[in-house]
Amino acid sequence: MQTLTSPVHAPSPFTNSTQTEPRRGPGFVRRALAFSTTLVGVLLPVAGLVMAIILSCVWGFSWVNVGLLIGMYAVTMLGITAGFHRLFTHRSFQTIAPIRFVLGALGSMAFQGSLVTWVGLHRKHHKYSDSEGDPHSPHDDDGAAMGLIRGFWHAHIGWAFAPMPDDIARYAGDLRRSRSARVLDALFPLWALVGLLIPSAIGFACLGWRGAISGLLWGGLARVFLAHHVTWCVNSVCHLWGSRPYASGDESRNNALVGVLALGEGWHNNHHAFPSSARHGLRWWQLDLSYWFIRTLVACRLAWAVRLPTAHELAVRGEQPAPLPV
Ligand SMILES: [Zn+2]
Ligand SMILES: [Zn+2]
Repeated sequence: MQTLTSPVHAPSPFTNSTQTEPRRGPGFVRRALAFSTTLVGVLLPVAGLVMAIILSCVWGFSWVNVGLLIGMYAVTMLGITAGFHRLFTHRSFQTIAPIRFVLGALGSMAFQGSLVTWVGLHRKHHKYSDSEGDPHSPHDDDGAAMGLIRGFWHAHIGWAFAPMPDDIARYAGDLRRSRSARVLDALFPLWALVGLLIPSAIGFACLGWRGAISGLLWGGLARVFLAHHVTWCVNSVCHLWGSRPYASGDESRNNALVGVLALGEGWHNNHHAFPSSARHGLRWWQLDLSYWFIRTLVACRLAWAVRLPTAHELAVRGEQPAPLPV
């Protein structure tokens, strides 16, 4: 399978200036901005979830809110899993331009950063997985456990409180040369806002003004909370707990619970062993809804060039031959 292009590493403009930099120079501003942005991004969905529960207790249960939560979760998570991850990061299948654009917009609605940044970070994660340079490993630079709680927190979201590594954009040169990807990336704040307005508008159409507010909370902020933590579990849980059927050279694990909730992304050892594969759930029982989505696109002749591991690649990584039938 195709391998990712090797990125070039740029030295950080801040690493060589510690002796001459004033205590509150550009580095301080950069760190403060990253910290406060991430803090708001983490806490706002929590506040939205709490408000959603309180208002549901006051106004009563509504299936409209359940539908908006599940529906918005499904489409925006597919934007991340099938779009940002399997299409844009790993190029594990090809599709027509309108679907590529819609998947990019839906992924942006998940509030996980803009397209180019997300792709750059994830490609860097694969290149240095669980070793020095990995942006969000729960293990230290030598691959040893850094302490369970500290490692879990760092891999889950703690890493995002620090400024973005300086070389991230270099990992996504192909996207920076693509006009549609640049437009998707630049309009990230707009997509994020649209992702809140859509459930609010549907809620208003169904239930009036109360529906608009509860739609914003359940289909918007509570959905972002759920998608955040499920996605972050791929980085934390799936590098700590689960099975390792393949020799992937890192600590990635297959975790069934995350596999189901993250639409197939929790079969993470499979994914690290075969990063370009469009299919992460390689066994029939490993539910991978994102691959089902890709297969549906193929059946409708809207996707092609779907990449899967060959028998030789499976054998190299430790696949055992299927047992002979009795
Ligand atoms: Zn990983
Ligand atoms: Zn990946």
